[in-house]
Amino acid sequence: MSTVEHNYQTVCQRLHQACAECQRDPAQVKLLAVSKTKPASMVEQCYQLGQRSFGENYLQDALDKITALQHLTDIEWHFIGPIQSNKTRAIAENCHWVETVSRHKIAQRLNDQRPTSLPPLNVLLQINISEEEQKAGILLNELDELARQIHDLPRLTLRGLMCIPEHTDSEKRLAEQFQRMQQAFINLQQGYDQVDTLSMGMSSDMALAIQYGSTQVRIGTDIFGARH
Ligand SMILES: *Cc1c(COP(=O)(O)O)cnc(C)c1O
Repeated sequence: MSTVEHNYQTVCQRLHQACAECQRDPAQVKLLAVSKTKPASMVEQCYQLGQRSFGENYLQDALDKITALQHLTDIEWHFIGPIQSNKTRAIAENCHWVETVSRHKIAQRLNDQRPTSLPPLNVLLQINISEEEQKAGILLNELDELARQIHDLPRLTLRGLMCIPEHTDSEKRLAEQFQRMQQAFINLQQGYDQVDTLSMGMSSDMALAIQYGSTQVRIGTDIFGARH
């Protein structure tokens, strides 16, 4: 068995185990394989194991792989990195999802640049749930307004929320942040029918995120190995 195959099976098992421990249906928790900095050949290997959704942080790195893997017609690309204005066109033209929207101006550009030949672009709003100053994302008190603005853009579909919690060993602090996300997600779902995605949980905190209602975990290291 290759390393990716072994790692992938282990992550899938851990995901199932984490769901079992909190009586959740594993079909309700999607696995996003975060392939940033890893070669297209590794993505294809993972695809052959049945994985379909991949996350990328860096635009050029993403575009190289999207081009190389065009023959995999049902692959799904999620952009999960910081978005600069001059990158929105390529993202709108090449990705299925963007998980890091936190400004109306960026959303407007993605909307305007989304090709009419493609379905609307799926959008998650990034929440700075730990309220750290240098961190990307909006504060929860800015959520209602940005959600309303994005809901009004016809070429975008607001699907939910994403967060990167504080980098800490404290499970208590992580749990508090995940719980606030869960509540914000439930509130948002009450206002918008298409909202179905709470993207939280990475290699180190997947099980805890699932306990707090995550519907999508983003796993890089534990599938593809450490990044250099
Ligand atoms: C890199 C990255 C991940 C994956 O993190 P791992 O710890 O390697 O699993 C998830 N989400 C975002 C936004 C990332 O940038």
